[in-house]
Amino acid sequence: MIQKAAFIRATHQLWKLVAALACPIILGLVILYQEWFGEGVAAFRDNLIVLTVLAFIGFAWGCLSIICPKCHCRLLAQTVGQKDFISWVRWFVTFTACPKCRFSPVEPGKAA
Ligand SMILES: [Zn+2]
Repeated sequence: MIQKAAFIRATHQLWKLVAALACPIILGLVILYQEWFGEGVAAFRDNLIVLTVLAFIGFAWGCLSIICPKCHCRLLAQTVGQKDFISWVRWFVTFTACPKCRFSPVEPGKAA
């Protein structure tokens, strides 16, 4: 469970992370569904291009919009490039202070 003190939750940006991750996950599920129950990915190519663009836009939007309210550091964009997928997702739902300016939304007056 994501703790209340987690930066992403305390700054009310958890929904952005969920939305940004949902875009590529939905794309993956649609591809699997087409492969297993539909006519295969080849028959579905035109829609696939549109969905891939939408998934990319959704994730890019998450990278641009999840920011530190104090220093405006783009947290998702910065993290994705530095860690592998599982560790950045885990880090992202647990960190409590901005890695750049140390701003903590739970204790705004105190640097973590
Ligand atoms: Zn910051």
